[in-house]
Amino acid sequence: MSVTGAAIVAGVCGQPIRHSMSPLIHNAWIAAAGLDAAYAPFAPPESGFEAFIEGLRGGAIRGLNVTIPFKERALACADRCSDLARLAGAANLLVFEADGTITADNTDGPGLIDAIAVQVPGFDPAAGPVVILGAGGAARGAAAALAMGGAPKITLVNRTLARAEAIAASIGGVVKAAAEAELDALLGEAGLVINATSLGLGGGAGPAARLDLTPETAVVVDMVYKPLRTEFLRRAEAAGRRTVDGLEMLLRQAVPSFEAFFGVAPPASVDVRALALAQLGEAVR
Ligand code: NAP
Repeated sequence: MSVTGAAIVAGVCGQPIRHSMSPLIHNAWIAAAGLDAAYAPFAPPESGFEAFIEGLRGGAIRGLNVTIPFKERALACADRCSDLARLAGAANLLVFEADGTITADNTDGPGLIDAIAVQVPGFDPAAGPVVILGAGGAARGAAAALAMGGAPKITLVNRTLARAEAIAASIGGVVKAAAEAELDALLGEAGLVINATSLGLGGGAGPAARLDLTPETAVVVDMVYKPLRTEFLRRAEAAGRRTVDGLEMLLRQAVPSFEAFFGVAPPASVDVRALALAQLGEAVR
């Protein structure tokens, strides 16, 4: 179906935005669903993010996904937000309501949990202790979602300990920070280990965590998806652990956004994972 003057418009906003896979994913779903809709990339200047968002109030477009470096500022622009976005301290989804208000949500954490359900069916990510490597926005979103999901213990281990401590202090409860010296002991009891650092991006070495120390039942997730099979995931597989890749998380976080924008579930008739793999230059798997 072609885009008409009545089309529902949504998009993704980041700086830079050129390499975002969200337009590919959403426009493939739009086409497969036969919707009169379009999903576009936006890259406002860093200093102009708030002015850009203010200009969209009242429904110039239906909604926006938000990515680096604007997720925290997106939450601050909103008039209301989900409990999860508040706990995560960041929003990756803004919906522009007809009354001029903005509603914020965070689908990154649910995307992580849904990706685990897809790639390791039957595994409960909140059943045991979680170790999160990193303390940036992605780590914080994961910690918030897993804490809300009932995980008994979530420990953030980061090069810069103070950043992990700040997240632990902000979320509180089961979320703690630990020094890198404690990592081996934490891995020894972990049910779930997540790389939420940018280490491994572009094909370099991932975090130097001893994944072989984890219980045999542990699941290892890498949020990095370029390349798809990171060095971190390959080490996890070599140790016999089940793994979840970052691309599945990216695809899953897009699902509730699509539903919020267009009011329907993404159609199953298009294989967006295969399309994304092709864009990444990866073999389909
Ligand atoms: P961020 O806020 O910039 O945080 C980067 C993290 O990586 C920090 O914890 C940083 O540690 C750590 N780090 C960077 N270089 C390091 C090094 N040389 N040694 C040790 N630690 C290092 O980024 P983010 O938004 O949280 O994203 C993190 C990663 O997750 C990125 O690769 C991003 O693409 C990915 N991600 C994927 C998805 C998905 O859907 N699959 C979603 C969100 C994010 P310091 O605090 O010490 O600097």
